[in-house]
Amino acid sequence: MNMDKIKTLTNGLEMPRLGLGVWRVENSVATDAVKWAIKADYRLIDTATIYKNEAGVGKGIKEAGVDRKDLFITTKLWNSDQGYESTHKAFNDSLERLGLEYVDLYLIHWPVEGKFSASWRAMEEIYESGRAKAIGVSNFHQHHIEELMKTAKIKPMINQIELHPTLTQVPLRDYLAEEGIAVEAWSPLGQGKILENEMLMAIGKNHGKSAAQVIIRWHLQSDIIVIPKSVHEDRIQQNFDVFDFELTDNEMKQIDEMNINERLGADPDNFDF
Ligand code: NDP
Repeated sequence: MNMDKIKTLTNGLEMPRLGLGVWRVENSVATDAVKWAIKADYRLIDTATIYKNEAGVGKGIKEAGVDRKDLFITTKLWNSDQGYESTHKAFNDSLERLGLEYVDLYLIHWPVEGKFSASWRAMEEIYESGRAKAIGVSNFHQHHIEELMKTAKIKPMINQIELHPTLTQVPLRDYLAEEGIAVEAWSPLGQGKILENEMLMAIGKNHGKSAAQVIIRWHLQSDIIVIPKSVHEDRIQQNFDVFDFELTDNEMKQIDEMNINERLGADPDNFDF
């Protein structure tokens, strides 16, 4: 399969299908990880206000010396900043910490009840101002999106959700596909917990690849945007070296069947942060 590295969002924006995640990475490490990733040909970086490393990410971007227009930078609105006015302020603060004039994608991090619709109104204005090239949500169930759409003028372009072989989220993915909302996986490697899985390792052996590479390829072949995290240069390189092999239909099916609906993070219907 000749895998395209780019996914075109509903508004025509081109987004890399594979990027680097930097949750639980402190500023100075984030700077190095971003530089290593860009050197290894990554163009998508996924941060968030709550990761407290936007400044480190911004420094990495500057020091990498790649044209800003060739990068795709995502950040997210934290829960305590939700609301109309506070979203505008939080966004401006994120841009300042990143040292950027715009981000490529701004996401509502979690569906804070009673607030996300007002936050979205501000995000629509930010989008219309050109300071976010795309806007979307994260951790939204179908019913959260339906609630948002009651007042939204612009449909979210992405939903970033927990998704890995042991939580494949098929019903939500089917709904998002119908709505034209792109799916992006967080904790795509199951936070590293499924990398010793024997079946994944055996599939990897068929192709001369690691279990991590097999999982990343499974996401890509499933039309899922994927943002594995690593702070090690060799793993960052390895995780991007997935465009020269193809999983068979049978291998894809075997991985699909690993699903046990196992969440590593909170259920978006029941979070307390
Ligand atoms: P991942 O599923 O990406 O797994 C990361 C873990 O796997 C780390 O322990 C890493 O170790 C290890 N690892 C990575 N590559 C390899 C490899 N090739 N071989 C062996 N081990 C490897 O977990 P995350 O939870 O970090 O998810 C990815 C990103 O998704 C986050 O960084 C963040 O950007 C986003 N996210 C978004 C959320 C949301 O609510 N929207 C919630 C959670 C995550 P090491 O770093 O030591 O190499």
